[in-house]
Amino acid sequence: MAQDSDPYSRERDLVESQIENLLQNFHPGTTNDREFWSLQYDLGLAWVHFARGFGGLGVSPSLGELVATRLAQAGAPSNFILNPIGIGMGAPTVMAHASTELSQRLLKPLFLCDEIWCQLFSEPGAGSDVASVITGAYRDGDEWVINGQKVWTTLAHASKWGMLLVRTDTGVSKHKGLTYFILNMQAKGVEIRPLRQITGEAEFNEVYLTDVRIPDGHRLGDPGDGWKIALTTLMNERVSLSGTAAERESGSIGEAVHLWKSLPEKSSHDRDRLARLWIEAEVSRLVNIRASQLRLAGTPGPEGSVGKLISAELNKKIYNFCVDILGPGGITYSSYEMSRPASIKIEREDGTRDFPKAFLRSRANSIEGGTSEIMKNIIGERVLGLPREPTVK
Ligand SMILES: Cc1cc2nc3c(=O)[nH]c(=O)nc-3n(C[C@H](O)[C@H](O)[C@H](O)COP(=O)(O)OP(=O)(O)OC[C@H]3O[C@@H](n4cnc5c(N)ncnc54)[C@H](O)[C@@H]3O)c2cc1C
Repeated sequence: MAQDSDPYSRERDLVESQIENLLQNFHPGTTNDREFWSLQYDLGLAWVHFARGFGGLGVSPSLGELVATRLAQAGAPSNFILNPIGIGMGAPTVMAHASTELSQRLLKPLFLCDEIWCQLFSEPGAGSDVASVITGAYRDGDEWVINGQKVWTTLAHASKWGMLLVRTDTGVSKHKGLTYFILNMQAKGVEIRPLRQITGEAEFNEVYLTDVRIPDGHRLGDPGDGWKIALTTLMNERVSLSGTAAERESGSIGEAVHLWKSLPEKSSHDRDRLARLWIEAEVSRLVNIRASQLRLAGTPGPEGSVGKLISAELNKKIYNFCVDILGPGGITYSSYEMSRPASIKIEREDGTRDFPKAFLRSRANSIEGGTSEIMKNIIGERVLGLPREPTVK
């Protein structure tokens, strides 16, 4: 009997037909972004592996790439740049751990970018070792009361919801005393102060929490289960930051090639550098495709750390190259005005790429979402099976 070479052929047909439905209602230039995303969600094409009624179709997550590719080819609007933390990390965490009611309340406004999300994990004394957070919470009836400080909170100033990791038990080992909440960023006692970056912008913030009250219904998992829930967020963060469904020669390498072609004079030394970067970018893209195919169960494993490590280091090298070949233009900065952007966009107002700013912003790639050193530790221990680092309980 002939073997079906595509184990997901029926699921693929379903996704294809939903994409057709969606694109029939898409008219470039006139379709309203929000209406498009609303229909995309209702047709189950937001995150195809999520359950029906929650922006998904209950099919293999590998089919998400089909949706991303087809929508990009059609020129459909993408919501990721407006709500990167919500789309990439908030949604999978909610789907995996929140109650049905809470998921229904949160997922659609998240996908429509009506409600932006941020991640309240890092603290002044807890970054790489995020399980060391000391922001505390105690229970008071049907509510929890939170006190402490978070830091480096990207887009907190634009957010409605924050994924909050706090300590609820100091009498057990550090990973066991954590609890995870979804915090309303407009709640009384939440104070958000901008932190300015090397680019001049304040994309991230300090967040002070003073007697902030959260309803118990906004807790994900049991008290003490926070580390498990946080791992879902962190693993999705790595996959999200490494950019999975990219097409060949897209993203930063595509920009570098475009820039190179526009130069009136080209040296063979730079051509050689670009060729090496192009090959590395292609290897990185293939690693990411492989990693995303491996996460069939819905929650990515340590493969996400491989993709995160490679793409962070490569991105820095690519923008080094761009500012080098731009000559003096590579060091002229158009505006160093302090601003608090509402998205993670690097383009100038006229839509052209701001290479000096992209170069400076890329310095953060090997810090945000876990540093390159931490990615190497994870790969060593969980992929290569090397002995574990000594840990503090
Ligand atoms: C642009 C940007 C956006 C961010 N957005 C957010 C956000 O939205 N929400 C949020 O919660 N956090 C956010 N962060 C924080 C980020 O997750 C932390 O900066 C990161 O995890 C590193 O923590 P740290 O800064 O405390 O450095 P530390 O943990 O203090 O590390 C300092 C240095 O020591 C190294 N190091 C630490 N431990 C080890 C080890 N065991 N082995 C080897 N080397 C080690 C690190 O690699 C690093 O070089 C953001 C950071 C940046 C740069």
